[in-house]
Amino acid sequence: MGDGRIFVGVGSSLGDAEETFAQAERALAARGVRVVAQAKNLKNAPMGGVALEEFTNSVWEVATTQSPWELLRTLQAVEGDLGRVRTVRWGDRTLDLDLLVYGGLVLNTPELTLPHPRIGEREFVLGPWAEIVDEGYAVVGVGAVHAALRELKEVAQEVPVDRRQVTDRLASDEDSQKTNETTGDQGGADADPIHWG
Ligand code: ADP
Ligand code: MG
Repeated sequence: MGDGRIFVGVGSSLGDAEETFAQAERALAARGVRVVAQAKNLKNAPMGGVALEEFTNSVWEVATTQSPWELLRTLQAVEGDLGRVRTVRWGDRTLDLDLLVYGGLVLNTPELTLPHPRIGEREFVLGPWAEIVDEGYAVVGVGAVHAALRELKEVAQEVPVDRRQVTDRLASDEDSQKTNETTGDQGGADADPIHWG
């Protein structure tokens, strides 16, 4: 699994993402990293309640003679070149460059984890990535990128069912509260997990 190909996840949620990405490509070239393929830019709603602005994401294939650690430092330098901003709105940034995979290399250090953790759960990574790799392309811990994307979409479609189950449960909780009201039962120690003394 894993040929020699190197992929970078690209993201921006501040300023003009298209322009930032074009500048990033030039800055990478100037530092010895050539972008050989680019997925279309994908716009996403902010996730996890962390970032407030819309995200723009892409995945790029790059070619370089730099080692993984050198490449990570190059990516960080380019983030710096383009004035990566961290504000109180933590999570919004001008440019985020993550090393997704470096060939088949598996690394587990805080400075560099490969493949990048959680890529298998992120449609904004798998979606663009699937545009620039074929069906057979697979990554350690994720499997085939195309298959992982299909699975993720299937899970996403099941969410309404889960929501309905939660709604049903809430409704039945309300029913039991009503029952308590009619019986005058305020709920004893077993019924109420929170006690205010
Ligand atoms: P994030 O991208 O998770 O929002 P940062 O871009 O600030 O956060 O990265 C945080 C740290 O993650 C960096 O200090 C970097 O050394 C580390 N890191 C570990 N593995 C990777 C990887 N594969 N690509 C990019 N950064 C990584
Ligand atoms: Mg990053």
